[in-house]
Formats: sequence, structure tokens, C-alpha cells
Amino acid sequence: MSAIDLLCEIITLKAKASAAFFNQQQDFQALFRKGLIRECGVAQSVNCLECDTTHDAEIVHEAGRYGYHCPDVGFVSVERDEIMSLQPNMPRIVSGLADAFGCRRRKSTPLQGSTWRIGTVPSEGGDITLYFHPCLSDEQDALELSAALSRDVRTAFRVILTAAGTLPLPYAKTALLIDVVEFPADRSEFSVLADPHDIAGAPRRNPGGAPNRFQDLLVQILQSRVNDCIALKGRNAEAKAVRDQFCRLYPDKAAPSLSSVQYYVTKFRSGQ
Ligand SMILES: [Zn+2]
Repeated sequence: MSAIDLLCEIITLKAKASAAFFNQQQDFQALFRKGLIRECGVAQSVNCLECDTTHDAEIVHEAGRYGYHCPDVGFVSVERDEIMSLQPNMPRIVSGLADAFGCRRRKSTPLQGSTWRIGTVPSEGGDITLYFHPCLSDEQDALELSAALSRDVRTAFRVILTAAGTLPLPYAKTALLIDVVEFPADRSEFSVLADPHDIAGAPRRNPGGAPNRFQDLLVQILQSRVNDCIALKGRNAEAKAVRDQFCRLYPDKAAPSLSSVQYYVTKFRSGQ
């Protein structure tokens, strides 16, 4: 499970998630350290599992330990993780996405309910507005979303990112967060996998696409992979491998987005 998968899972568990469960996952600590998920308090009570009667017991904090008092077996200590619940830190997630896409017109609070405007990116055909809505899988989700969007200025293109579900909508394109960004373990921010222009079907401001600041370095890598006979056949697979190689070779440079590497792979292969 990737860090983004894990984040989406925590977002879609609308109820509070337990830290003990997610602590088993490899990327949990990264999400936690970067502030994308946060603790939101300990449970007030638990079911006692230590004695023969089924009873609830109030959690207490005594002598630096969490636990509860069971009438039969006395004080039972409980690991903090087992009773700590988690929630996604939505303002941090939304601002992280806005940074990754270079958005303008950001909004730091929800539009309404659980719908957020991440911000806008320009295109030749007018602005693309990116929104986040946790889940888009049924009519109720669609109603909540459209009620929230009716409060916002309508732009030429709209893209809704979700943690789960991509119900088709007549007025917007929908995409899953896991298909659009990733959260590499060695980086502190989201990196972009899919360009909002492509998701929205919007023309690019700068035809030909990606900025060329990576061109020379990427072409060197592409050429060396051909020379070493390690270039992969699939364009996406090769772009990922090239991007990984870029990150290993230039750990202190910002990595190009996967969509720009794909662009260079295509360009390189067509001999341009
Ligand atoms: Zn008990």
C-alpha cells in the first residue's frame, strides 16, 4: 500500500481511525510526520477483554500510563496507540495539493461540508478549478458536491479529486487522488502524476507542455538507458524508471512531474 493509498483510506473512513491499526503500515509515519494525518484524542472507554464479563470501562491516565480499572483483574494498562484515534488533516492536504499544482485562488476552509476548493490553474481555454471531495460514489455524494459547488464561481473547467469513487458528472471531470499525485517517502510534498489540463481536457497555456528546465538532464538519462539496453518498452514504465533515476542522481533537485517525464520520453523516442 502506497502512502497515498493509505491517506485515501484514512480520509474515507469517515469515523475516526485507530492509530494502532494504521501504525502497522509502512508509510504511516511519513504521513504523520508531514502533518497530513493527525491525532484527535483518545477514546473515552473500551471493552474489557481481560475478564469473563463483557463490560465497558472508562479510560484513565495514571502514573504516565493509559488504562482502565476492571472489577475482577484490577488496573489494565493499554497502549496509547490502541486508543488514539486519527483524522486526516484536510487543510494541510488541500494546501499541499495546491502547492503541487501551483494553484491560485486557494481556499483554506471548506466551501461547504466536506467539499474543498484546492485552487485554479490557467489554461488557454480558461481557468481549471480543482476541488476535493472525499468520496464520490453515489447520488448523495453528488448532491452534496453540487450544493457546495453552487457556492463557488464557475470556471471554464472543473476537476474533482476524490479519495474514493469517480461517479461521472455532467459539469466536471472526476479523478482519484491516487491517479493524480504520489507521496514519495523521500520527499516532503506531493508530486504530480497527471496534469490537470489532461484530466480536464483543457488546452495548455504553453503548447508543447512541460517546462524545459529538465530537458538536458532527462535526455542524458534516456540516452544512457538506451546505450545500456535497460530502457523499458512501455512509455509510463520508462518514465517512472527515468524519474526514479533522476531522483537518485540529483537528490537535491526538485524532481520533474511524471507527466513531464512522459512528455520527454515521447519526444525522445520520436527523435525530436
Ligand atoms: Zn473486566
